[in-house]
Amino acid sequence: MATTKVLAGARVVLPSGVVDDGRLVVEGTRIAGPAPESAEIIDVSGHWLVPGFVDIHNHGGGGASFSGTVDDVLTALRTHREHGTTTLVASTVTDDMDILVQQAGLLSELAEQGDIAGIHFEGPFISPCRKGAHSEALLRDPDPAEVRKLIDAARGRAAMVTLATELPGGLDSVRLLVEHGVIAAIGHTDATYEQTVQAIDAGATVATHLFNAMPQLGHRAPGPVAALLEDERVTVELIDDGVHLHPAALRLAFRQAGATRVAFITDAMDAAGIGDGRYMLGPLEVEVRQGVARLVEGGSIAGSTLTLDRAFRRAVTVDGLAVEDVVTAVSAGPAKLLGVYDRVGSLEPGKDADLVLLDDDFRLKGVMRRGQWVVDPQLG
Ligand SMILES: [Zn+2]
Repeated sequence: MATTKVLAGARVVLPSGVVDDGRLVVEGTRIAGPAPESAEIIDVSGHWLVPGFVDIHNHGGGGASFSGTVDDVLTALRTHREHGTTTLVASTVTDDMDILVQQAGLLSELAEQGDIAGIHFEGPFISPCRKGAHSEALLRDPDPAEVRKLIDAARGRAAMVTLATELPGGLDSVRLLVEHGVIAAIGHTDATYEQTVQAIDAGATVATHLFNAMPQLGHRAPGPVAALLEDERVTVELIDDGVHLHPAALRLAFRQAGATRVAFITDAMDAAGIGDGRYMLGPLEVEVRQGVARLVEGGSIAGSTLTLDRAFRRAVTVDGLAVEDVVTAVSAGPAKLLGVYDRVGSLEPGKDADLVLLDDDFRLKGVMRRGQWVVDPQLG
């Protein structure tokens, strides 16, 4: 039986550009160089072959959340894999510190096993003025000692912490995170332009869902949006679901930052991959109607029901972005940010065989993770 597969005939998106009628060789769990003669040839002509997606901000899907049990986490993970996300950072939401510490322990084990790529703590160190769908009573200032508790609880698997860096202890917390190799993300913030510049200078490198949960861009008070967009050191997260951002705002950010400084994220909650209904986001109740998640109390947007295959398709077909740029923003860029680009994020020999097959209308038609089909190719 052939253990080597050759995916032949697709438009393959490589770091060097798009190759028409390309061939991709998969041997075991990895992408390989030239194929042996015994290889199984799979004709995927008429399709796009792109690297598996990398989501650095995701709270759940498939009716389950990354704040739940091991089974919940695996359900959410499976749901997003079926939509092309082969590398995923699990995000928590604001909760009691003891609960977060406990959840960090659970998630760190799944990271250890290679199921998730790390943990993102969104809250509790965020601004009550920009709390979004976070429980106000549980918010707190970013005291470095408390931040340290979460880093320790994650046992080396903390990937990112979102914080409002203008709060007391904010800048010291950024420095602490950087010292421990954890990404400091500015978000749910009420900072001015100047305060945001200070936080970037202290080492913050990510904007948590740029535009959302922060002051608007103003021409006399440019706020965090301008500071985050203009600094070459910052990667900006964008939620391309047609709800969180107008296409023009998304294009503006994309063009200003350039594809290499954008990370498309889902910020998905439990309803992703399922549909409308009542759900929980951490301790808060959420109602999803026509795919839009809002808090039952107050009506704040409460995450998204997005999956990255939909974000990809929308970016190309609605926002008019180039396929190669979208691949950069949904795979290569976030992989580099996480420090895992040596293994994932592009279709190159030696890397994990993580890939997504799309038809010529950019609909998902197959997903492979580490050489195994998660979604069998549908080549009709
Ligand atoms: Zn979030």
